[in-house]
Amino acid sequence: MIADAHCHLVGFSEEELVGLEGILIAAVSEDVQDSRRTLELARRRRGTLAFVGIHPWRAADVQEEDLRAVESLVPDAAGLGEIGIDGDHLETMSMQLEVFRRQLRLAREYDKPVNLHCLRAWEECLDLVLRHDVRSAVFHWYTGPRDLAERISGYGFYISINAAAKVQRRHAELAASIPMRSLLVESDGPYEYRGLRLTPLMIPGLLDLISELRGISRESLEHAVAENFHDAFLGR
Ligand SMILES: [Zn+2]
Repeated sequence: MIADAHCHLVGFSEEELVGLEGILIAAVSEDVQDSRRTLELARRRRGTLAFVGIHPWRAADVQEEDLRAVESLVPDAAGLGEIGIDGDHLETMSMQLEVFRRQLRLAREYDKPVNLHCLRAWEECLDLVLRHDVRSAVFHWYTGPRDLAERISGYGFYISINAAAKVQRRHAELAASIPMRSLLVESDGPYEYRGLRLTPLMIPGLLDLISELRGISRESLEHAVAENFHDAFLGR
C-alpha cells in the first residue's frame, strides 16, 4: 500500500485526482475554506484522511471566528494540519504561536493527531507539542538536526520524508538514518521544488530511493511505512 503522509489534495484537478486512485493520502489544509473543501473531498474520495486547520503562513490574518470555524470542523476530521510555526517568518511569530497553541489544544481536547509544519523551528515545535500532550504528531518534511530527530522518535512521534529527497542531499541523509519506527513518506504536492513537481505519484520512487539508502528490501520498507501511517493517524 502506498501512503502519502502530507499532501494538499484539494490543489489537484479532478483529472489528476483520477490518476491518484488507490493511494492512501493524509490531506492537509491551509485555512478554513481549504479545510471545508478537504473534508468534502474526503467524503467522496476513498483513502483520504482529512486534516483541518490554519497554516502558520496564514496565522497573521486569522480572526477569532476562523479558529471557531476550525473547531467546528475538528470532530469530522482525521486530525489537525497543516499547523505549526515557521522560523523564517519571525515578523508574525507571536500570532503564529497563538494560532498554533489554540490548535494544539483542540488536538488534545478532541484526541486527534497533528500534521506539523515546523520549518526552522523544530525544537520549539516539539516543546509545544509535548506541553500540549497531543496523542500523535507528524513532523512534515523534516530538515532539523539528527539528534532532535532521535528525540522526536523517542517520544513516539513521526518524521516524514519528502519526495524531494531525490535532490535534497541533507534530507536523503535523514531518510537513511532516522529510526524506522518513526518513518513516513510524503509528497506535499502539488508543489514545485527545484524543478520537481511534487505529487503522490512520486512516492513509489521515493520508497525505491529509501530502500536503497537503507539497504533493505522495498517490500519491507513499504510495509513498515504503511504500518507507521496507520499508527500515526488512525490510532494504535
Ligand atoms: Zn504542506
